[in-house]
Amino acid sequence: MTNYADFHRRSIEDREGFWGEQARLIDWHRAPAQVCDQSRPPFVRWFAGGETNLCHNAVDRHLAARADQNALIFVSTETDTERVYSYRELHAEVQRMAAIYRSLGVKKGDRVLIYMPMIPEACFAMLAAVRIGAIHSVVFGGFASHSLASRIDDAQPTLIVSADAGMRGGKVVPYKPLLDEAISLSSHKPARVVMVDRGLAGFARVEGRDVDHAALRAQHLDTAVPCEWVDATHPSYILYTSGTTGKPKGVQRDTGGYAVALAASMKHIYMGEPGETYFSTSDIGWVVGHSYIIYGPLINGMATIMYEGLPIRPDAGIWWSLVEKYKVTVMFSAPTAVRVLKKQDPAYLKKHDLSSLKALFLAGEPLDEPTATWIAEALQRPIVDNYWQTETGWPILAICNGVQAAPSKFGSPGKAVYGYDVQLIDEGSGEPITEPHRKGVVAVAGPLPPGCLQTVWGDDRRFVSTYWSSIPGRQMYSTFDWGVKDEDGYFYILGRTDDVINVAGHRLGTREIEESISSHPAVAEVAVVGVADALKGQVAMAFVVVKDASRLSSPDALRQLETEVLRVVDEQLGAVARPARVHVVATLPKTRSGKVLRRAIQAVCEGRDAGDLTTMEDPAALAQIGAIVR
Ligand code: ATP
Ligand code: MG
Repeated sequence: MTNYADFHRRSIEDREGFWGEQARLIDWHRAPAQVCDQSRPPFVRWFAGGETNLCHNAVDRHLAARADQNALIFVSTETDTERVYSYRELHAEVQRMAAIYRSLGVKKGDRVLIYMPMIPEACFAMLAAVRIGAIHSVVFGGFASHSLASRIDDAQPTLIVSADAGMRGGKVVPYKPLLDEAISLSSHKPARVVMVDRGLAGFARVEGRDVDHAALRAQHLDTAVPCEWVDATHPSYILYTSGTTGKPKGVQRDTGGYAVALAASMKHIYMGEPGETYFSTSDIGWVVGHSYIIYGPLINGMATIMYEGLPIRPDAGIWWSLVEKYKVTVMFSAPTAVRVLKKQDPAYLKKHDLSSLKALFLAGEPLDEPTATWIAEALQRPIVDNYWQTETGWPILAICNGVQAAPSKFGSPGKAVYGYDVQLIDEGSGEPITEPHRKGVVAVAGPLPPGCLQTVWGDDRRFVSTYWSSIPGRQMYSTFDWGVKDEDGYFYILGRTDDVINVAGHRLGTREIEESISSHPAVAEVAVVGVADALKGQVAMAFVVVKDASRLSSPDALRQLETEVLRVVDEQLGAVARPARVHVVATLPKTRSGKVLRRAIQAVCEGRDAGDLTTMEDPAALAQIGAIVR
């Protein structure tokens, strides 16, 4: 068996050899002339001169061996629909969508903006775009018109694909009025809007602009649209970051490098086999949805589940019933979803036959130890934390069990993934930290491996100034996260560099304080923010959600809890980390992707405007915090 340390070292020291080998995992129309063109750092051109196509690799190339195998499994517990598409059917649907694009004048390099719920047509729309060399930009369906308008202006799409409505928790969420408003707000006007009518919400058609998907599809049932071979460096899509820390950045992804990176990750990290089923519970509006609902599993010849609905409806067993029914082998979710399930009866996990499942991967935010322990015990399967960003498109830190099996350590997303020269950097000096357990900024020495962002869409300068210019004295990619590394090479993420609290000169990661507080048995969730303080510069303020609120109905019980929580922090981290207050709240304000909106909490605590909140899940959560601190 390969030794992981050697594997990783080779990926850095012999990039040409290493990635040249990985490139064989995909189909090329023309082999790359060069593996890694670094002539203009920090830009890098992977597999330059090679020609390929993402859709070919995700769909067409599997027709020979697995035309009748499941490709896309669509399950909606909102509309009570289940529909399975074989690779042959997926191929037909993608061509129909591509024919629609062609008939509406979409050309190679044009942008197609996709504003859709989790329905099969969204998958067809993505694959059809890359099929003809167009560049898709999926905008999460939970965004309202302002956020959508700014993305329309940035991506300047020729065409928008949308639907009448999505559904959430049994409620119809109309999309069309938001889309119309967004287009009226934006300066760029798309020529055409293709509307998928689910029959959920009526909508007004704009004459000359809006066209009906079903009618056009019927005209192109048998139109063949071959894949357009594009250069490996041709952009495949633009995806905006979650906006947790401010104005979203348009991440631009290439074609060849992305396909190779995903194919390699399926083998070395996720360990899914062709013919098996992959279930990622994310949304196509996020990077996990791009890489591990659509492209990764399909490139690997797997079936992928696209799920529209909540994890607890009709009951908390729904995901596990899908695992049983479709013999899911690899599952991917987020800690926030596991915390939702943790509040439900654990018996739901025991009701279903989960024997097909090999591992559960979690990413997107820190995986706290209680959540990890709970799900590991409930599933009796390896839980693999992995750390990455919209920018990178696939993991930076993980356990690459497909290379060499290694234990996970609770609280750690694992080691540097092959291809990434991850270093911890001392913020003051810009020097790499070599000794274990010393905190630094998680940074990557260039070039970034295949699959990562090529640039910020339309703004090369922002790419350089945002990502490559924050480490003093050297051009390195900053993740803007803090971390430490132990003597075995396992990293621990301590929070974002702008989530650092400076209490009387001590710099503390909010994550460290949160970890400590969440070890109190009554605490279900916690967010810690730094709040400006005249005396100390900043103080930590904690907001906790408790497991059983009924036991905390009296002011005395609340005070008791606060005292206990403060004692835990004192014991584990010391008095400097002690929050000024511990407030109990019903829920924490989060993005729709489950990330705690610390910047919004902090703004409210400091009496400032909370900024762009369009991705916020539940405005009441922030309102409650506002009321408490006032
Ligand atoms: P924006 O960059 O627009 O502020 P964002 O950073 O939330 O938004 P994403 O790219 O979706 O957008 O999230 C990446 C970030 O999520 C990482 O930088 C890190 O802070 C956090 N993260 C992701 N996975 C993990 C993990 N396994 N453990 C800890 N943190 C994680
Ligand atoms: Mg980010």
